[in-house]
Amino acid sequence: MNHFALFEDVACKACGSAAAPSVIGRVCDHEYRSVDMEFSAVRCDQCGLVYLKPRPDAGELGRIYPKEYYSYHLGASSPDPDAPVSYVQRLFQQRNRKALSAKLAQSGFKPGSFSRPIRILDVGCGVGAQLDLFKALLPNAELHGVEIGELAVRKTREKGHTAYHGRFEDVELPAGYFDIVYSSHVIEHVENPPGFLAKCHTVSSPGAAIIIETPNTDCVEFEWLKGRHWGGYHAPRHFYLFNPENMATMASRVGLSRITARSYPSPAFWNWTCHSIVMSALGSRIADALFPPVTIFYGGIRSLVLLGGFSTLESIILKLTGRASAFWIAFSKR
Ligand SMILES: [Zn+2]
Repeated sequence: MNHFALFEDVACKACGSAAAPSVIGRVCDHEYRSVDMEFSAVRCDQCGLVYLKPRPDAGELGRIYPKEYYSYHLGASSPDPDAPVSYVQRLFQQRNRKALSAKLAQSGFKPGSFSRPIRILDVGCGVGAQLDLFKALLPNAELHGVEIGELAVRKTREKGHTAYHGRFEDVELPAGYFDIVYSSHVIEHVENPPGFLAKCHTVSSPGAAIIIETPNTDCVEFEWLKGRHWGGYHAPRHFYLFNPENMATMASRVGLSRITARSYPSPAFWNWTCHSIVMSALGSRIADALFPPVTIFYGGIRSLVLLGGFSTLESIILKLTGRASAFWIAFSKR
């Protein structure tokens, strides 16, 4: 294997504890097979933050995120952002719009309390699918997105949204400007999650709702599968994995107060879990054929059957245990 640069945290990013964490698992990139090595998953004994130690160095991002990386194109039907959106993808979007509407209500966000258009920022906006949903719910809103995928930025702009190309941490944005700062499944990928939340704080207006979605280690699937196969690891691209408590602890250190937090099913993680288990037992060809780790996101009948089935399974687990493999958490500025 070629040289692969690594980085090692000396303290917990969530609570700041410098005590040595416990090793809880060994994980690898079974989805894209970008790097042929295993990583240790560790857990902070103080707050429960789970992270890779060591993790890939920032200089290796180009290697662990191939050009076709799925989430640059989430809501699209292929890595080509100009391909038509499929029927199944539209069904998923309908469901996502209902979920977003509920989240805004549960966050206590009151669109009526603004005398000017509401300003929304989606951090990691992909091809602008989530901004489209915001537009459907709040037609007069000003819509902005930040995205590192170049093609996705172009697509977002074509839809009429304002899109900034680059990392959220580096992009220049007006301070105190945005009334909703939304970010779905990004914070677990970043090198400095407290810095990411601090930037959310900086760009938010007084009275803003900051909504963060991320995998949830406080679920039974994590407890069962943390040794290797839990799909939420998405190794080595998920550097830091949270639960609502340690996320709130970290946010409070940068001046954000929790409003509410809720678990929800993430059926794609189950697809990755099954892929990892089948790959260990029967090899990558069978695993890729049964549980395609990348194309599952592009819609089609197989996506509907697999993701629909896993969604039902996780909804049952959520009913029984009150927890699921992802959560969203809303904050306000202190
Ligand atoms: Zn900690």
